[in-house]
Amino acid sequence: MTSFLIRSATAILTGLEGSAARARGEDLRVRNGRIHEIGQLTPEPGERQINATGCVVYPSWVNTHHHLFQSLLKGDPMGQNATLTPWLVATPTRLRPLMSESDFRLAARIGLLELALSGCGTVADHNYHYWPDMPYDGSAILFEEAAKLGLRFVLCRGGSTLPRPPDEALPEASRPETLDGFLQDIQRLAREFHDPAPDSMRRVVVAPTTPTYSMQPEELRVTAAEARKLGLRLHSHLSETVQYHDFVHQHHGMKPVHFCETVHWLGPDVWFAHLVKLDPDEIALLGTTRTGIAHCPQSNGRLGSGIAPVRQLEAAGAQVSIGVDGAASNEAADMISETHAAWLMQRARGGQGATAVHRGGQGEGDAAATTVEDVVRWGSAGGAAVLGLDAVGTLEPGKAADLAIYGVDRDPRYFGLHDPAIGPVASGGTADLRYLFVGGKEVVRDGRVPNLDVMELGRQSREAVKALLARL
Ligand code: ZN
Repeated sequence: MTSFLIRSATAILTGLEGSAARARGEDLRVRNGRIHEIGQLTPEPGERQINATGCVVYPSWVNTHHHLFQSLLKGDPMGQNATLTPWLVATPTRLRPLMSESDFRLAARIGLLELALSGCGTVADHNYHYWPDMPYDGSAILFEEAAKLGLRFVLCRGGSTLPRPPDEALPEASRPETLDGFLQDIQRLAREFHDPAPDSMRRVVVAPTTPTYSMQPEELRVTAAEARKLGLRLHSHLSETVQYHDFVHQHHGMKPVHFCETVHWLGPDVWFAHLVKLDPDEIALLGTTRTGIAHCPQSNGRLGSGIAPVRQLEAAGAQVSIGVDGAASNEAADMISETHAAWLMQRARGGQGATAVHRGGQGEGDAAATTVEDVVRWGSAGGAAVLGLDAVGTLEPGKAADLAIYGVDRDPRYFGLHDPAIGPVASGGTADLRYLFVGGKEVVRDGRVPNLDVMELGRQSREAVKALLARL
Protein backbone atom coordinates (compact mmCIF):
# COMPACT_ATOMS: atom_id res chain seq x y z
CA MET A 1 0.00 0.00 0.00
CA THR A 2 1.58 3.26 -1.12
CA SER A 3 0.59 6.37 0.75
CA PHE A 4 1.76 9.96 0.94
CA LEU A 5 0.63 13.09 2.72
CA ILE A 6 0.49 16.59 1.23
CA ARG A 7 0.81 18.91 4.21
CA SER A 8 0.03 22.52 5.11
CA ALA A 9 -1.31 23.78 1.76
CA THR A 10 -2.36 27.43 1.69
CA ALA A 11 -5.61 26.29 0.03
CA ILE A 12 -7.12 23.26 -1.70
CA LEU A 13 -9.55 23.93 -4.56
CA THR A 14 -11.72 20.90 -5.24
CA GLY A 15 -13.30 21.50 -8.66
CA LEU A 16 -16.72 21.31 -6.95
CA GLU A 17 -19.41 23.99 -6.88
CA GLY A 18 -20.43 26.65 -4.35
CA SER A 19 -19.20 26.31 -0.77
CA ALA A 20 -17.62 22.93 -1.67
CA ALA A 21 -15.23 24.63 -4.13
CA ARG A 22 -12.66 24.92 -1.34
CA ALA A 23 -11.74 22.01 0.91
CA ARG A 24 -11.86 22.40 4.67
CA GLY A 25 -8.39 21.61 5.96
CA GLU A 26 -4.94 21.95 4.51
CA ASP A 27 -3.71 18.35 4.30
CA LEU A 28 -4.50 15.67 1.74
CA ARG A 29 -3.62 11.98 1.93
CA VAL A 30 -3.20 9.82 -1.19
CA ARG A 31 -3.41 6.06 -0.88
CA ASN A 32 -3.09 3.57 -3.75
CA GLY A 33 -3.56 6.26 -6.36
CA ARG A 34 -6.77 7.61 -4.82
CA ILE A 35 -7.51 10.54 -2.55
CA HIS A 36 -7.98 8.95 0.85
CA GLU A 37 -8.85 11.95 3.03
CA ILE A 38 -8.64 15.74 3.23
CA GLY A 39 -8.53 17.71 6.49
CA GLN A 40 -6.17 18.29 9.41
CA LEU A 41 -4.13 15.10 9.15
CA THR A 42 -1.29 13.53 11.12
CA PRO A 43 1.57 11.75 9.31
CA GLU A 44 1.69 8.01 9.76
CA PRO A 45 4.96 6.26 10.64
CA GLY A 46 7.25 6.13 7.59
CA GLU A 47 4.78 7.96 5.34
CA ARG A 48 6.22 10.19 2.58
CA GLN A 49 5.39 13.84 3.27
CA ILE A 50 5.18 16.65 0.72
CA ASN A 51 5.47 20.08 2.25
CA ALA A 52 2.90 22.32 0.52
CA THR A 53 3.54 25.40 2.62
CA GLY A 54 3.17 28.42 0.31
CA CYS A 55 1.36 26.27 -2.27
CA VAL A 56 -2.17 25.80 -3.51
CA VAL A 57 -3.57 22.44 -4.63
CA TYR A 58 -5.89 22.12 -7.65
CA PRO A 59 -7.39 19.10 -9.38
CA SER A 60 -5.13 18.48 -12.39
CA TRP A 61 -6.61 20.01 -15.53
CA VAL A 62 -8.61 18.06 -18.11
CA ASN A 63 -8.03 19.44 -21.61
CA THR A 64 -10.96 18.38 -23.82
CA HIS A 65 -9.89 19.62 -27.26
CA HIS A 66 -6.48 19.68 -28.90
CA HIS A 67 -4.69 18.85 -32.18
CA LEU A 68 -1.27 17.80 -30.92
CA PHE A 69 0.22 17.47 -34.42
CA GLN A 70 -0.04 21.26 -34.72
CA SER A 71 2.63 21.78 -32.04
CA LEU A 72 5.22 22.22 -34.83
CA LEU A 73 2.99 24.66 -36.78
CA LYS A 74 2.89 27.63 -34.41
CA GLY A 75 2.90 31.22 -35.61
CA ASP A 76 2.98 30.38 -39.33
CA PRO A 77 3.18 33.81 -41.03
CA MET A 78 0.86 32.65 -43.86
CA GLY A 79 -1.99 32.13 -41.39
CA GLN A 80 -1.02 34.36 -38.52
CA ASN A 81 -3.54 37.12 -39.16
CA ALA A 82 -6.26 35.10 -40.88
CA THR A 83 -9.73 34.08 -39.76
CA LEU A 84 -10.71 30.40 -39.51
CA THR A 85 -11.26 29.34 -43.14
CA PRO A 86 -8.27 31.08 -44.76
CA TRP A 87 -6.14 30.01 -41.76
CA LEU A 88 -7.17 26.34 -42.29
CA VAL A 89 -6.06 26.58 -45.91
CA ALA A 90 -2.87 28.55 -45.14
CA THR A 91 -1.59 26.58 -42.17
CA PRO A 92 -2.81 23.08 -41.17
CA THR A 93 -4.09 22.04 -44.61
CA ARG A 94 -0.93 23.33 -46.36
CA LEU A 95 1.62 22.01 -43.86
CA ARG A 96 0.11 18.79 -42.51
CA PRO A 97 0.89 16.71 -45.64
CA LEU A 98 4.57 17.68 -45.27
CA MET A 99 4.88 16.25 -41.77
CA SER A 100 6.76 12.97 -41.39
CA GLU A 101 6.13 10.29 -38.79
CA SER A 102 8.96 11.66 -36.64
CA ASP A 103 7.57 15.22 -36.95
CA PHE A 104 4.21 13.90 -35.79
CA ARG A 105 5.74 12.17 -32.77
CA LEU A 106 7.85 15.20 -31.88
CA ALA A 107 4.83 17.52 -32.14
CA ALA A 108 2.82 15.26 -29.82
CA ARG A 109 5.70 15.17 -27.33
CA ILE A 110 6.01 18.97 -27.31
CA GLY A 111 2.28 19.55 -26.88
CA LEU A 112 1.88 16.96 -24.14
CA LEU A 113 4.89 18.31 -22.23
CA GLU A 114 3.61 21.88 -22.45
CA LEU A 115 0.28 20.73 -20.99
CA ALA A 116 1.87 18.65 -18.22
CA LEU A 117 4.01 21.60 -17.14
CA SER A 118 0.84 23.67 -16.73
CA GLY A 119 -0.68 21.04 -14.41
CA CYS A 120 -2.78 19.12 -16.94
CA GLY A 121 -3.28 15.41 -16.20
CA THR A 122 -5.80 14.37 -18.88
CA VAL A 123 -5.61 15.21 -22.57
CA ALA A 124 -8.28 14.62 -25.21
CA ASP A 125 -6.70 15.02 -28.64
CA HIS A 126 -8.85 15.48 -31.72
CA ASN A 127 -6.47 13.87 -34.19
CA TYR A 128 -7.61 14.10 -37.81
CA HIS A 129 -4.19 13.23 -39.26
CA TYR A 130 -5.40 10.14 -41.17
CA TRP A 131 -5.60 9.16 -44.79
CA PRO A 132 -6.12 5.90 -46.72
CA ASP A 133 -3.12 3.54 -46.42
CA MET A 134 -1.12 5.90 -44.24
CA PRO A 135 2.28 4.34 -43.56
CA TYR A 136 2.32 4.69 -39.77
CA ASP A 137 -0.11 4.41 -36.87
CA GLY A 138 -0.57 7.95 -35.54
CA SER A 139 -3.09 6.76 -32.95
CA ALA A 140 -0.55 4.38 -31.39
CA ILE A 141 2.09 7.14 -31.36
CA LEU A 142 -0.22 9.46 -29.41
CA PHE A 143 -1.07 6.79 -26.84
CA GLU A 144 2.65 5.94 -26.49
CA GLU A 145 3.75 9.53 -25.97
CA ALA A 146 1.03 10.21 -23.37
CA ALA A 147 1.88 6.97 -21.55
CA LYS A 148 5.59 7.88 -21.47
CA LEU A 149 4.71 11.07 -19.58
CA GLY A 150 2.10 9.34 -17.42
CA LEU A 151 -0.91 11.35 -18.62
CA ARG A 152 -4.45 10.08 -19.18
CA PHE A 153 -5.14 10.16 -22.90
CA VAL A 154 -8.40 10.27 -24.85
CA LEU A 155 -7.99 9.81 -28.60
CA CYS A 156 -10.76 11.55 -30.51
CA ARG A 157 -10.35 9.73 -33.83
CA GLY A 158 -11.06 12.37 -36.46
CA GLY A 159 -11.20 12.11 -40.19
CA SER A 160 -13.39 12.79 -43.14
CA THR A 161 -15.14 11.00 -45.98
CA LEU A 162 -15.54 14.25 -47.95
CA PRO A 163 -12.70 16.31 -49.40
CA ARG A 164 -12.40 19.85 -48.05
CA PRO A 165 -12.27 22.05 -49.98
CA PRO A 166 -14.34 19.89 -52.35
CA ASP A 167 -13.25 19.07 -55.92
CA GLU A 168 -9.62 19.91 -55.31
CA ALA A 169 -6.61 17.82 -56.24
CA LEU A 170 -5.32 16.82 -52.84
CA PRO A 171 -1.94 15.51 -51.72
CA GLU A 172 -2.04 11.92 -50.52
CA ALA A 173 -2.02 12.88 -46.84
CA SER A 174 -5.13 15.05 -47.25
CA ARG A 175 -7.26 12.47 -49.06
CA PRO A 176 -10.58 11.49 -47.48
CA GLU A 177 -11.25 7.96 -46.22
CA THR A 178 -14.20 5.73 -47.02
CA LEU A 179 -16.84 5.35 -44.32
CA ASP A 180 -15.96 1.65 -44.08
CA GLY A 181 -12.28 2.47 -43.67
CA PHE A 182 -13.09 5.02 -40.95
CA LEU A 183 -15.40 2.64 -39.05
CA GLN A 184 -13.00 -0.31 -39.33
CA ASP A 185 -10.25 1.77 -37.78
CA ILE A 186 -12.61 2.89 -34.99
CA GLN A 187 -13.36 -0.78 -34.25
CA ARG A 188 -9.64 -1.61 -34.23
CA LEU A 189 -8.83 1.31 -31.91
CA ALA A 190 -11.67 0.39 -29.55
CA ARG A 191 -10.31 -3.17 -29.34
CA GLU A 192 -6.66 -2.17 -28.91
CA PHE A 193 -6.87 0.92 -26.73
CA HIS A 194 -10.28 1.73 -25.23
CA ASP A 195 -10.66 1.14 -21.51
CA PRO A 196 -14.12 2.15 -20.21
CA ALA A 197 -13.04 2.26 -16.53
CA PRO A 198 -13.99 5.47 -14.66
CA ASP A 199 -10.30 6.24 -14.07
CA SER A 200 -9.14 4.90 -17.43
CA MET A 201 -5.73 5.95 -18.81
CA ARG A 202 -6.84 5.29 -22.42
CA ARG A 203 -10.09 6.10 -24.15
CA VAL A 204 -11.24 6.25 -27.76
CA VAL A 205 -13.87 8.69 -29.05
CA VAL A 206 -15.52 8.84 -32.50
CA ALA A 207 -14.79 12.27 -33.93
CA PRO A 208 -15.27 13.10 -37.64
CA THR A 209 -13.61 16.48 -38.02
CA THR A 210 -16.86 18.44 -38.42
CA PRO A 211 -20.41 17.09 -38.72
CA THR A 212 -21.14 19.74 -41.33
CA TYR A 213 -18.20 19.42 -43.74
CA SER A 214 -16.68 15.98 -43.12
CA MET A 215 -19.46 13.44 -43.76
CA GLN A 216 -22.84 13.07 -45.45
CA PRO A 217 -25.85 13.14 -43.08
CA GLU A 218 -26.51 9.41 -43.48
CA GLU A 219 -22.84 8.67 -42.73
CA LEU A 220 -23.10 10.77 -39.57
CA ARG A 221 -26.12 8.72 -38.43
CA VAL A 222 -24.28 5.46 -39.07
CA THR A 223 -21.22 6.78 -37.25
CA ALA A 224 -23.23 7.88 -34.20
CA ALA A 225 -24.99 4.49 -34.05
CA GLU A 226 -21.67 2.63 -34.32
CA ALA A 227 -20.12 4.76 -31.55
CA ARG A 228 -23.05 4.06 -29.21
CA LYS A 229 -22.95 0.36 -30.03
CA LEU A 230 -19.26 0.29 -29.05
CA GLY A 231 -19.84 2.43 -25.91
CA LEU A 232 -17.72 5.29 -27.31
CA ARG A 233 -18.42 9.01 -27.00
CA LEU A 234 -18.78 11.48 -29.88
CA HIS A 235 -16.82 14.67 -30.42
CA SER A 236 -16.41 17.25 -33.19
CA HIS A 237 -16.10 20.94 -34.08
CA LEU A 238 -19.27 23.02 -34.37
CA SER A 239 -20.26 26.63 -34.98
CA GLU A 240 -16.81 28.04 -34.53
CA THR A 241 -17.76 30.89 -36.90
CA VAL A 242 -20.84 32.14 -38.75
CA GLN A 243 -19.72 30.14 -41.80
CA TYR A 244 -21.22 27.01 -40.21
CA HIS A 245 -24.59 28.80 -40.19
CA ASP A 246 -24.30 29.84 -43.84
CA PHE A 247 -23.27 26.34 -44.94
CA VAL A 248 -25.96 24.46 -43.00
CA HIS A 249 -28.61 26.99 -43.99
CA GLN A 250 -27.67 26.61 -47.66
CA HIS A 251 -27.41 22.80 -47.69
CA HIS A 252 -29.99 21.70 -45.12
CA GLY A 253 -32.22 24.76 -44.54
CA MET A 254 -31.72 24.81 -40.78
CA LYS A 255 -29.31 25.83 -38.00
CA PRO A 256 -26.18 23.80 -37.17
CA VAL A 257 -27.38 22.50 -33.77
CA HIS A 258 -30.75 21.46 -35.24
CA PHE A 259 -28.90 19.71 -38.06
CA CYS A 260 -26.92 17.78 -35.44
CA GLU A 261 -30.19 16.70 -33.82
CA THR A 262 -31.40 15.25 -37.15
CA VAL A 263 -28.26 13.07 -37.41
CA HIS A 264 -28.43 11.94 -33.73
CA TRP A 265 -25.39 14.00 -32.77
CA LEU A 266 -26.69 15.58 -29.53
CA GLY A 267 -26.74 14.15 -26.00
CA PRO A 268 -24.71 13.72 -22.81
CA ASP A 269 -22.26 11.49 -24.74
CA VAL A 270 -21.48 14.26 -27.26
CA TRP A 271 -19.31 17.35 -26.87
CA PHE A 272 -18.39 20.02 -29.41
CA ALA A 273 -15.39 22.30 -29.59
CA HIS A 274 -16.08 26.05 -29.88
CA LEU A 275 -19.89 26.61 -30.11
CA VAL A 276 -19.13 30.32 -30.47
CA LYS A 277 -22.03 31.27 -32.73
CA LEU A 278 -25.32 30.02 -31.26
CA ASP A 279 -28.88 31.29 -31.37
CA PRO A 280 -30.96 31.14 -28.16
CA ASP A 281 -33.00 28.15 -29.45
CA GLU A 282 -29.75 26.29 -30.17
CA ILE A 283 -28.47 27.01 -26.65
CA ALA A 284 -31.74 25.65 -25.24
CA LEU A 285 -31.46 22.47 -27.34
CA LEU A 286 -27.84 21.86 -26.30
CA GLY A 287 -28.94 22.38 -22.69
CA THR A 288 -31.97 20.06 -22.68
CA THR A 289 -29.93 17.31 -24.38
CA ARG A 290 -27.03 17.91 -21.91
CA THR A 291 -24.57 18.13 -24.80
CA GLY A 292 -21.10 19.37 -23.82
CA ILE A 293 -18.80 22.16 -24.97
CA ALA A 294 -15.01 22.32 -25.12
CA HIS A 295 -14.60 26.07 -24.69
CA CYS A 296 -11.42 27.24 -26.48
CA PRO A 297 -11.23 30.99 -25.77
CA GLN A 298 -7.65 31.58 -26.92
CA SER A 299 -8.06 29.93 -30.32
CA ASN A 300 -11.41 31.70 -30.77
CA GLY A 301 -9.64 34.97 -29.97
CA ARG A 302 -6.60 34.23 -32.17
CA LEU A 303 -8.83 33.42 -35.19
CA GLY A 304 -11.20 36.32 -34.54
CA SER A 305 -14.15 33.94 -34.16
CA GLY A 306 -15.83 35.48 -31.10
CA ILE A 307 -16.53 34.53 -27.46
CA ALA A 308 -18.71 31.50 -26.76
CA PRO A 309 -21.83 31.99 -24.58
CA VAL A 310 -20.52 29.63 -21.91
CA ARG A 311 -22.52 30.93 -18.97
CA GLN A 312 -25.73 30.79 -21.00
CA LEU A 313 -24.93 27.21 -22.06
CA GLU A 314 -24.29 26.17 -18.47
CA ALA A 315 -27.50 27.86 -17.27
CA ALA A 316 -29.42 25.95 -19.98
CA GLY A 317 -28.01 22.61 -18.75
CA ALA A 318 -25.07 22.01 -21.12
CA GLN A 319 -21.85 20.52 -19.72
CA VAL A 320 -18.95 23.00 -19.86
CA SER A 321 -15.28 22.05 -20.25
CA ILE A 322 -12.11 23.80 -21.45
CA GLY A 323 -9.84 22.90 -24.38
CA VAL A 324 -6.69 24.57 -25.65
CA ASP A 325 -7.27 23.67 -29.34
CA GLY A 326 -4.30 23.08 -31.64
CA ALA A 327 -1.18 25.19 -31.20
CA ALA A 328 -1.34 26.36 -34.84
CA SER A 329 -4.18 28.66 -33.70
CA ASN A 330 -3.06 29.06 -30.07
CA GLU A 331 0.59 29.67 -29.36
CA ALA A 332 -0.11 29.34 -25.62
CA ALA A 333 -1.57 25.83 -25.66
CA ASP A 334 -1.36 25.26 -21.90
CA MET A 335 -4.19 25.06 -19.38
CA ILE A 336 -3.11 27.99 -17.20
CA SER A 337 -3.15 30.42 -20.15
CA GLU A 338 -6.43 28.93 -21.36
CA THR A 339 -8.27 29.11 -18.05
CA HIS A 340 -6.91 32.62 -17.40
CA ALA A 341 -8.34 33.64 -20.80
CA ALA A 342 -11.65 31.84 -20.11
CA TRP A 343 -12.04 33.76 -16.86
CA LEU A 344 -11.31 37.15 -18.45
CA MET A 345 -13.23 36.61 -21.67
CA GLN A 346 -16.42 35.32 -20.03
CA ARG A 347 -16.43 38.39 -17.81
CA ALA A 348 -15.71 40.61 -20.84
CA ARG A 349 -18.57 38.97 -22.74
CA GLY A 350 -20.90 39.72 -19.82
CA GLY A 351 -19.88 43.36 -19.94
CA GLN A 352 -20.24 43.46 -23.71
CA GLY A 353 -23.91 42.54 -23.37
CA ALA A 354 -24.59 44.83 -20.39
CA THR A 355 -27.36 47.37 -20.90
CA ALA A 356 -27.88 50.61 -18.98
CA VAL A 357 -30.55 50.54 -16.28
CA HIS A 358 -32.39 53.49 -17.85
CA ARG A 359 -32.70 51.41 -21.03
CA GLY A 360 -34.23 48.52 -19.12
CA GLY A 361 -31.03 46.54 -18.47
CA GLN A 362 -29.20 45.25 -15.40
CA GLY A 363 -26.40 47.83 -15.57
CA GLU A 364 -22.80 46.66 -15.15
CA GLY A 365 -23.76 43.74 -12.90
CA ASP A 366 -23.93 41.38 -15.88
CA ALA A 367 -20.14 41.15 -16.08
CA ALA A 368 -19.70 39.79 -12.56
CA ALA A 369 -20.97 36.24 -12.92
CA THR A 370 -17.84 34.21 -13.82
CA THR A 371 -15.53 33.36 -10.92
CA VAL A 372 -12.12 31.70 -10.82
CA GLU A 373 -13.82 28.79 -9.02
CA ASP A 374 -16.18 28.41 -12.01
CA VAL A 375 -13.24 28.24 -14.39
CA VAL A 376 -11.40 25.70 -12.20
CA ARG A 377 -14.57 23.58 -12.16
CA TRP A 378 -14.99 23.80 -15.96
CA GLY A 379 -11.32 22.93 -16.49
CA SER A 380 -11.35 19.90 -14.17
CA ALA A 381 -14.71 18.38 -13.16
CA GLY A 382 -16.41 19.69 -16.32
CA GLY A 383 -13.76 18.09 -18.51
CA ALA A 384 -13.98 14.76 -16.71
CA ALA A 385 -17.77 14.86 -17.12
CA VAL A 386 -17.72 15.37 -20.90
CA LEU A 387 -15.14 12.58 -21.21
CA GLY A 388 -17.12 10.27 -18.90
CA LEU A 389 -14.14 9.80 -16.56
CA ASP A 390 -16.29 9.59 -13.46
CA ALA A 391 -13.45 8.95 -10.99
CA VAL A 392 -11.46 11.99 -12.20
CA GLY A 393 -11.78 15.77 -12.03
CA THR A 394 -12.46 16.65 -8.39
CA LEU A 395 -10.48 16.48 -5.17
CA GLU A 396 -12.68 14.33 -2.95
CA PRO A 397 -12.05 11.11 -1.00
CA GLY A 398 -12.34 8.13 -3.34
CA LYS A 399 -11.44 10.06 -6.50
CA ALA A 400 -8.26 9.50 -8.50
CA ALA A 401 -5.27 11.39 -7.09
CA ASP A 402 -4.92 13.68 -10.13
CA LEU A 403 -3.66 16.93 -8.64
CA ALA A 404 -1.43 19.89 -9.31
CA ILE A 405 0.47 21.72 -6.58
CA TYR A 406 1.37 25.31 -7.48
CA GLY A 407 3.75 27.54 -5.55
CA VAL A 408 2.51 31.06 -4.87
CA ASP A 409 5.45 32.07 -2.65
CA ARG A 410 8.44 32.63 -4.97
CA ASP A 411 7.15 34.59 -7.98
CA PRO A 412 6.33 38.28 -7.47
CA ARG A 413 3.24 37.90 -9.70
CA TYR A 414 1.53 36.30 -6.68
CA PHE A 415 2.84 38.65 -4.01
CA GLY A 416 0.11 40.83 -2.50
CA LEU A 417 -2.75 38.43 -3.31
CA HIS A 418 -5.41 38.64 -0.62
CA ASP A 419 -6.68 35.25 -1.71
CA PRO A 420 -3.68 33.18 -2.87
CA ALA A 421 -5.99 30.27 -3.81
CA ILE A 422 -6.97 31.99 -7.06
CA GLY A 423 -3.34 32.88 -7.96
CA PRO A 424 -2.56 30.33 -10.73
CA VAL A 425 -5.67 31.25 -12.77
CA ALA A 426 -6.13 34.91 -11.82
CA SER A 427 -2.48 35.92 -12.28
CA GLY A 428 -1.91 33.78 -15.39
CA GLY A 429 1.58 33.51 -16.88
CA THR A 430 3.81 30.48 -16.39
CA ALA A 431 2.61 28.65 -13.30
CA ASP A 432 5.11 27.65 -10.63
CA LEU A 433 4.17 23.96 -10.81
CA ARG A 434 5.86 22.13 -7.94
CA TYR A 435 4.18 18.76 -8.49
CA LEU A 436 1.78 17.09 -10.87
CA PHE A 437 0.34 13.72 -9.85
CA VAL A 438 -1.81 11.52 -12.09
CA GLY A 439 -3.41 8.54 -10.36
CA GLY A 440 -1.03 9.20 -7.45
CA LYS A 441 2.05 8.88 -9.72
CA GLU A 442 4.45 11.79 -9.83
CA VAL A 443 4.71 13.30 -13.34
CA VAL A 444 6.30 16.70 -12.59
CA ARG A 445 8.53 17.77 -9.72
CA ASP A 446 9.63 21.35 -9.29
CA GLY A 447 8.62 22.34 -12.82
CA ARG A 448 10.48 19.46 -14.51
CA VAL A 449 9.72 16.04 -15.87
CA PRO A 450 12.52 13.78 -14.60
CA ASN A 451 14.89 12.46 -17.30
CA LEU A 452 13.42 14.70 -19.99
CA ASP A 453 15.91 17.06 -21.66
CA VAL A 454 13.84 20.13 -22.57
CA MET A 455 16.80 21.89 -24.25
CA GLU A 456 17.28 18.88 -26.55
CA LEU A 457 13.56 18.85 -27.37
CA GLY A 458 13.83 22.53 -28.28
CA ARG A 459 16.80 21.80 -30.57
CA GLN A 460 14.86 19.00 -32.29
CA SER A 461 11.83 21.27 -32.74
CA ARG A 462 13.89 23.99 -34.45
CA GLU A 463 15.46 21.44 -36.82
CA ALA A 464 12.07 19.89 -37.58
CA VAL A 465 10.52 23.27 -38.45
CA LYS A 466 13.48 24.10 -40.71
CA ALA A 467 13.22 20.73 -42.49
CA LEU A 468 9.43 21.08 -42.84
CA LEU A 469 9.75 24.46 -44.53
CA ALA A 470 12.48 23.12 -46.81
CA ARG A 471 9.98 20.52 -48.10
CA LEU A 472 7.56 23.22 -49.31
ZN1 ZN B 1 -10.05 22.24 -33.12
